[in-house]
Amino acid sequence: MNGWVLAIDVGGTKLAAARVRGDGSLDRRRQRPTRSGVTADELWADLLALVDDVTDGDAPPAVGVGCGGPMQWPEGLVSPLNIAAWRGYPLRQRLKDRFATADVVVHNDAVAMALGEHRFGAGRDSAAFLGVVVSTGVGGGLVIDGRLVSGRTGNAGHFGHVVVDAAGPPCRCGGNGCVEAIARGPALVTWALEQGWQPRDDEDVDGRALVAAARRGDDVALASLTRGGHALGVALASVAAVMDLDTVAIGGGVANAGELLLGPVQAAYHRHARLDFTRGCRIVPAALGDDAGLVGAAALVLPSPRGGAD
Ligand SMILES: [Zn+2]
Repeated sequence: MNGWVLAIDVGGTKLAAARVRGDGSLDRRRQRPTRSGVTADELWADLLALVDDVTDGDAPPAVGVGCGGPMQWPEGLVSPLNIAAWRGYPLRQRLKDRFATADVVVHNDAVAMALGEHRFGAGRDSAAFLGVVVSTGVGGGLVIDGRLVSGRTGNAGHFGHVVVDAAGPPCRCGGNGCVEAIARGPALVTWALEQGWQPRDDEDVDGRALVAAARRGDDVALASLTRGGHALGVALASVAAVMDLDTVAIGGGVANAGELLLGPVQAAYHRHARLDFTRGCRIVPAALGDDAGLVGAAALVLPSPRGGAD
């Protein structure tokens, strides 16, 4: 270990990379937009240019990658929902070809963020932790007894598809009433528009505008965040009971609403989590902000403070 690892964050809107030190701090952070309408190889060339700028000729001892799902794990054949160019793309192997001596780990971006929050953010000292990301989708990751729980296919912690209303709206997964179908940013926006929300002319019609409207006191925007927060709180009550959680951290773009989302989440959670052990679980904002993806990707390959890998 020469003091840093290479972290890569692959998302539908941007590609980011940085050197990350053992204390979670970032160096040489670079990013560029994720181009659409390009071939798989062109997108790889974009990523490689970014990575070569960050590494600057130095060989990283390890490479951690958070990437949108789904993916074949742990092989790292990625098919991100929001990146049409990559379907079954061998991202891990491409990075192994580029950095032959490095350990390369590719995992779901929400899993990476959860691990980063556990190691360096809102989940420090937690023995049973769920990190939740509320954004275009709803995702999550589990860290139990200091170890990342990946499950059989790498999908453990896939919080977005906890069913909160069996008669609820259709979900992208093909089911109905998943928490993601109600609480993801685009679903909040759609519901608000149906209820008569009118975005300002100078704003896009998206989750960011919805949160801004709620901050200005728009009743429908507030009701939409409350509805989404309620669904998240109900889902968390189930998961906390199954996993005996002590801490849940909520991040992602929609969570920028702060208390306007977190308040309804906590209220719904405490209405439904009635057992002594579930009542003790804390639900808090994520702490790493915009760098969560990169810090989390690094955490996939940084040595565990407890010795041994996560
Ligand atoms: Zn679903």
